[in-house]
Amino acid sequence: MIKQILGLAVLMAGGAAQLVGQTTDTQRAAAADVLKQIEALQNRLAPAKLAERLTAARNPDRDQVMARAAGIWDSGMGALSDWIGRNPEVGWKEFKAVDTLTKVLETHGFAVEKGSAGLATAFVAKWQSPAGKGLVLGVIAEYDALRDTEGAFHGDQHNAQSPIAISAAVAMQEWLRDSGTPGTIVVFGTPAEEVGPPAKKIMFDAGVFNGTDLIVRSHASTSTSRARAGFGICCLNINEVKYIFSGTPSHQLTSWYGRNALAAAVHFYSMVDGLRSSFRPEASIQGVIPEGGVAPNVVPQRAVVDYYIRYPDGVYLEHITRMVDNAAKAAALATGTELKIDRYGEFRDGITFGTLEELSFGYAQKLGAPAVEPEPQRPSGYEETGVLSRIAPGVGVSIYSSRGSYHTRGMLADTFSEVGHRAFRIAAQVMAAVMFDFTKDGAFRSAVQTEHATMKGLFDQYQDALKRAYASEIGQQ
Ligand SMILES: [Zn+2]
Repeated sequence: MIKQILGLAVLMAGGAAQLVGQTTDTQRAAAADVLKQIEALQNRLAPAKLAERLTAARNPDRDQVMARAAGIWDSGMGALSDWIGRNPEVGWKEFKAVDTLTKVLETHGFAVEKGSAGLATAFVAKWQSPAGKGLVLGVIAEYDALRDTEGAFHGDQHNAQSPIAISAAVAMQEWLRDSGTPGTIVVFGTPAEEVGPPAKKIMFDAGVFNGTDLIVRSHASTSTSRARAGFGICCLNINEVKYIFSGTPSHQLTSWYGRNALAAAVHFYSMVDGLRSSFRPEASIQGVIPEGGVAPNVVPQRAVVDYYIRYPDGVYLEHITRMVDNAAKAAALATGTELKIDRYGEFRDGITFGTLEELSFGYAQKLGAPAVEPEPQRPSGYEETGVLSRIAPGVGVSIYSSRGSYHTRGMLADTFSEVGHRAFRIAAQVMAAVMFDFTKDGAFRSAVQTEHATMKGLFDQYQDALKRAYASEIGQQ
């Protein structure tokens, strides 16, 4: 995930726009009322003050949980992070990492289910306190590597993410058990963040995350930062769609007996290019033709066009996607081929929660995390698909862990260096502290839950406002 991409673009555009998730004038106008309500909610909840109270408080139990998280990192998880870093596996093939991580979790008494939601390298590891179920605390763990011409490499530091998650989860587990506090901890092993289709969305659709009260995670970062409450996504809302044309094979010298699937794909591809001027300029549509026949002397029976269709909001994105779908149907009709449309991936605006952002940022500062970004960043949800924030509040902890930029060999080098190691240790402590306060401090938990319920409602309001804003242009949806 390259979370800063759009933030930068908006920064360059200047003005107050950098503070909110909305990109276009239409979106900002549609969001105006909702943004006012978000501001009122934030003023009411006063997340920075809440965070100040909690982080400044003398709390030996919390300090013990944080110290344990650091201790677990020091006594094995740090080494495991390096080991995964030196044994990179790309998305959907992270078998060694999953095998090792689930063994570690089993050693700590977690019940592990592998292959969650039908994904071979997904897992769910669950532990319930002997004192009872209590709150369900979710921790996200990623482990896939990037790929380039020289092979797989951990240029986004996903190698550290699971060892950090386990350090925080086990520290919290020990405290729940020893203090006789009810509570459940679930580590969600989510594969293939860097390649489609989006694993978290598939796991979400399969109900894997249902019933979770809080979700925490961490990710490599080029600064120590928190985001402003609101709606947004790192790299535009996306529909990933495969258009599969099926024709009839025939010898090319008697091609009139066949129906050419490649011809359908080529017509379709050109039609989409012809449509570009009919879309608002922020649309971004890129496609490839990964399958287009096998032999020049046989009429191609099967062709596939794979598109990423992107727009800054999900409402207009659906309009673009319908028009692209129609172009595919037209191409199939024109060529006498059959069409199957497979929308295999969706990424949408996520919700960013001020209460959790400020608390994790407060702890990061307390622990002396370097390269602190003083201003809140653009909201982008706490995970890349956006959907998890609809069912549970959560936070993605961002601690400065690299001098380089995302997806680089420099970031890989820092995953093994003091810069990375120090950041990962802090991230584990911050995640443990956030879970602790959510469990122990009723006022904070209730603020988080109020924020989640209200922001979810406001998100729906924003979607309705967008539909009204676009209605004259794209019709009632
Ligand atoms: Zn990433």
